[in-house]
Amino acid sequence: TGAYIANDLTAKIRVCVRKRPLNSKEINRGEKDMAGVTGRQLTVDEPKVRVDMTKYIERHGFIFDEVFDSDATNEDVYRRTAYPLVQYLFEGGRATCFAYGQTGSGKTFTMLDDKQGLYVLAARDIFVMLRKPENAHLTAYIGFYEIYQGHLHDLLNKRKKLHPREDGKSNVVISGLKEYEILNVEGLMQVFEYGNNARSTGSTNANADSSRSHAIMQIMLKDQSRNVVGKLSFIDLAGSERGADRGETDAKTRMEGAEINKSLLALKECIRALDQDKKHTPFRQSKLTQVLKDSFVGNSRTCMVATISPNNSNSEHTLNTLRYADRVK
Ligand code: ADP
Ligand code: MG
Repeated sequence: TGAYIANDLTAKIRVCVRKRPLNSKEINRGEKDMAGVTGRQLTVDEPKVRVDMTKYIERHGFIFDEVFDSDATNEDVYRRTAYPLVQYLFEGGRATCFAYGQTGSGKTFTMLDDKQGLYVLAARDIFVMLRKPENAHLTAYIGFYEIYQGHLHDLLNKRKKLHPREDGKSNVVISGLKEYEILNVEGLMQVFEYGNNARSTGSTNANADSSRSHAIMQIMLKDQSRNVVGKLSFIDLAGSERGADRGETDAKTRMEGAEINKSLLALKECIRALDQDKKHTPFRQSKLTQVLKDSFVGNSRTCMVATISPNNSNSEHTLNTLRYADRVK
């Protein structure tokens, strides 16, 4: 639908989709990439902004700012998602890069993979920029926390519970959040690793893992008076699948699930409101949107990467993810 418009890497909101390749388990089960199955299509069409899910919905194609097919590398994705945000960070902007999608669709691989996630690729460029003489007054800091069951936990400080508030200048302040000064990529990766080990690992369920929490990793640039002059956040959201699909079999996990759904809904509402420059944006509806508020208002840019699986057995989730991403636009 509509003509393809050369996409603007500096737009305030960008919504991208990334389809992962089949994994070995799926191949062993004889599953197929839906791109190759007639009538049950899931194809990424040239010029790579369109996902076709014919058969599932009347409107066949979804149009996004970018669509990455299963052969895209993290470097490819980085160039067209987080890299423009790194540039913006050095212009004093606040930028957020999210991964949204069902568990197993590639959120962590894209955003926070310990060797090649977008955060590592961004850090590489950030330190190149920081070595330039005109940036000599700037220092990089990292903060890393998760939102689990509606509470903030500092992953760099023994999961200490944190409370966000707003200062007079509508900056979000998370009192007590541990921030480490970072001198190079290796340093950043080490601190990240330490924090990542503190992520919630869930409890009884077989697939319980960090997919039930939102992980938020922030790189701040501060000037010599320790004022934040730029902020870039990488967010690995909780799995977007619902209820039983997320292993919600008891009261506790169902409550968690309700909290996750509420926050993902609030996120969508807030991003949409941004685009429409609405007066009222429902930031207070969830902890997630509350802590992201200052990354959304004023000088801000947001890039969402919706991750999808290639196989038929995940097609309902894929469709839900595409619908969510489509609504955000
Ligand atoms: P999620 O965080 O959404 O639950 P993961 O990022 O953990 O999903 O991905 C699930 C599995 O698929 C992991 O083993 C990951 O390495 C692999 N994977 C995900 N995306 C890709 C990709 N684009 N290319 C190769 N492997 C991928
Ligand atoms: Mg994950």
